Amino acid sequence: MAARAKSTVLTGGRVVLPTGTVDGGRVIVEGTRITGAAPADAVPLDLSGHWVVPGFVDMHNHGGGGASFTSGSVDEVLKGVRTHLEHGTTTLVASLVTGEADFLAQRASVLSELVEQGDLAGIHFEGPFISPCRKGAHSEELLRDPDPAAVRKLVDAGRGAVRMVTLATELPGGIESVRLLAELGVIAAIGHTDATYEQTAEAIDAGATVATHLFNAMPPLGHRAPGPIAALLEDERVTVELINDGTHLHPAALELAFHRAGAGRVAFITDAMDAAGFGDGLYQLGPLAVEVKEGVARLVEGGSIAGSTLTLDTAFKRAATVDRLPVGDIVQAISANPAKLLGLYDRVGSLEPGKDADLVVLDADFAVKGVLRRGAWVIQPQLG
Ligand SMILES: [Zn+2]
Repeated sequence: MAARAKSTVLTGGRVVLPTGTVDGGRVIVEGTRITGAAPADAVPLDLSGHWVVPGFVDMHNHGGGGASFTSGSVDEVLKGVRTHLEHGTTTLVASLVTGEADFLAQRASVLSELVEQGDLAGIHFEGPFISPCRKGAHSEELLRDPDPAAVRKLVDAGRGAVRMVTLATELPGGIESVRLLAELGVIAAIGHTDATYEQTAEAIDAGATVATHLFNAMPPLGHRAPGPIAALLEDERVTVELINDGTHLHPAALELAFHRAGAGRVAFITDAMDAAGFGDGLYQLGPLAVEVKEGVARLVEGGSIAGSTLTLDTAFKRAATVDRLPVGDIVQAISANPAKLLGLYDRVGSLEPGKDADLVVLDADFAVKGVLRRGAWVIQPQLG
């Protein structure tokens, strides 16, 4: 019989719970889970002066560590996942940029195995059902209208692993596709869209529940034509994704979204591409060439922003130090809200007994000092 693993009690830290922050709170880890009571032989770990927060949940991420989820081998995909894990992301949805339908179906099949293994939390198709007017870093010739049959084919290719599809709901077939996705239990996300305010409201009524990187790749807020931004911010049924890297959004835009939607309806995402956690240089985003300079990724042709090089620990730190958001609100946006949307809140997204022991230890300046995933240290805190 294998010896029972000793449990660990994290003590002394500022623990962020769904009910509030507890100074000197205790988190007990036994095996892969958080438990409610510490056995007598539990080993204490003093985390005084540190924050203890739930592992981060990134529902929109294209790669990292030099690897692309759209084109990389299984080993490369795992390297990308590992890179983000070292920055605190313990739950990650792999996003695919626009490609040929057959290619995307084949990628979904490859990635679905990693979802089954527990390395990924799901697959997100960002395209091809998006607007040529707001294509961003997607290749125009591969874009198509959201025909429900084509949408279903892609979702089926993921064998239950597809969690979200971003689409421009104003295109022909858009509303029917939203209804289909809602029926299939897949998140319909409005994004890369040229919709009006009214068209956006119609899509939300049909079942769309997420705004793909609010503000980016959609018409700006106008006083006579409020467009998708106003419709997405005002509706209680919608969670808005925000890329908090200081490049995609002005801090005032982020503040506006937080105020209007409230901390319970914001999800911090990275929208990261290969260069995240890796460095400047030349990359591919799907079929398009991208140059990363000083951490900003742009298409070589046309100069559109092409994803980010963000990791969620940097988004957290920026939210706390630049945007001066309360840590409890940041934890909602970076862990709890995306976990709830993905239907994973019974396992991740907060520090509660019975959940996976996924957590991040941050120092007083919000730098990552420890990452625990399913009870195993990915980064072991080196304290004192
Ligand atoms: Zn994206």
